[in-house]
Amino acid sequence: MPEKFDVIVVGAGVAGLAAAYKLAKEGLSVIVIERGDYPGAKNVMGGVLYRAMMEEIIPEFWKEAPLQRPVVEQRFWLMDEESVVTTGYKGQQWAREPYNCFTVFRGQFDQWFARKCTEAGAVIINETVVESCIVENERVVGVRTNRPDGDLYANVVVLADGVNSLLSKQLGFHDEWKPQQVALAVMEELKLPSEVIEERFNLEPGMGATIEIFGSGTLGLVGTAFIYTNKEHISIGVGALLSQIRQMKVRPYDLLENLKNHPMVRPLIRQGEPVEYYAHLIPEGGYNAIPRLVGNGVVVVGDAAQLVNGIHREGSNLAMTSGRLAAEAIIRAHRMGEFNERSLSHYEEQLRNSFVIEDLKKYKNTSHLFEVNPQYFNKYIPATNMALHEMLTVDGVSKKDKQKLILQRLLNGSSLYSLGKDLYQAWRAVK
Ligand SMILES: Cc1cc2nc3c(=O)[nH]c(=O)nc-3n(C[C@H](O)[C@H](O)[C@H](O)COP(=O)(O)OP(=O)(O)OC[C@H]3O[C@@H](n4cnc5c(N)ncnc54)[C@H](O)[C@@H]3O)c2cc1C
Repeated sequence: MPEKFDVIVVGAGVAGLAAAYKLAKEGLSVIVIERGDYPGAKNVMGGVLYRAMMEEIIPEFWKEAPLQRPVVEQRFWLMDEESVVTTGYKGQQWAREPYNCFTVFRGQFDQWFARKCTEAGAVIINETVVESCIVENERVVGVRTNRPDGDLYANVVVLADGVNSLLSKQLGFHDEWKPQQVALAVMEELKLPSEVIEERFNLEPGMGATIEIFGSGTLGLVGTAFIYTNKEHISIGVGALLSQIRQMKVRPYDLLENLKNHPMVRPLIRQGEPVEYYAHLIPEGGYNAIPRLVGNGVVVVGDAAQLVNGIHREGSNLAMTSGRLAAEAIIRAHRMGEFNERSLSHYEEQLRNSFVIEDLKKYKNTSHLFEVNPQYFNKYIPATNMALHEMLTVDGVSKKDKQKLILQRLLNGSSLYSLGKDLYQAWRAVK
């Protein structure tokens, strides 16, 4: 007789672990199935982990979780080939409890999170691939794994299998993601002594900073590059829409090398010894790409559900919030003794009432706007650099003449109307 659980969670990323922890705490029998050697082995993130959403799962987790640095400064760079326009925010409030966010290594963090799930009563099975859902009478009743006699049964299956989302695709919840719905990101960990990191980033001991880079950091492709400080490593990476990478025939490795060799970046990472290299997809389809989230006996959470806010570099927090809300809906369904689509739809309702869907809705057209209007990245960012360069270079030309020159170069053959239209469209896309 095959084993039956209350809930099977596929994938021990932050979405799956958030769901498993909540369910196990409530006394439900939960098994998490992970294909990696251990939780976190297959997970890639820059990575900034947000305190508020994790705290809704484990209060004051920062007192014991393996974290790198609390982030006290977030910088934004508009980068051209030889220059950068910078802005950002640094706050002492973020340097003390309860903090805003932390840099983490997912390999460490997910193992710790998985241990908390086990302590709460969940069973975690590693090195096991779920090949398909078992469907009987139009309801998901379990999963088929690659192990001999590897069928497992449950009242509900939580699909937290990450960006590729093969299992919900098999169920017909969505088609193959289109190349404009996913970004390909590559990143490296560079080892450096902590005092060197603190000096270069102007940080108090133990504190961290992040830099998000637009423009030359991605060779003008729609995407972002990033630099994050860990205790003794710098994470540096770059991601761009797969459609753009293909169209421009750029190799992701070259994007990263270009970034590392940029004159604005080079001094920050000098003598950093590369210790890890990762490549991973990020769901970037946003609100319009969210697949079906609920079926009879099944829910989809995290990256598998395209829940990433690329504009704000938020993914892990949406993943864990969706995992938590799915768990709450399953606990409710368990009390009702009903595991059909109708009872599990409570998850989708709660998700739609949360910041997760609200934020994705707000930016639903942004990614597409930037994709079809590359001028935002390859024209306006260089133009902003040029304008500041002109205005701040003291060379005897009057400021009025400089303004005329800037406008001429900015328009470069196009009209004031088209510039105004671009600005208006951008404002509408993010308002
Ligand atoms: C380069 C990069 C930088 C990022 N930076 C940030 C950041 O700074 N901040 C942030 O919040 N977000 C960031 N993100 C996004 C964030 O990593 C994701 O949104 C988040 O990890 C999603 O969690 P998840 O649990 O849904 O998926 P994942 O963490 O991908 O977990 C899915 C798990 O499912 C397992 N799995 C898949 N298929 C199967 C199967 N068939 N059987 C068994 N197991 C399976 C996988 O091995 C994996 O462990 C970044 C992403 C990338 C790629």
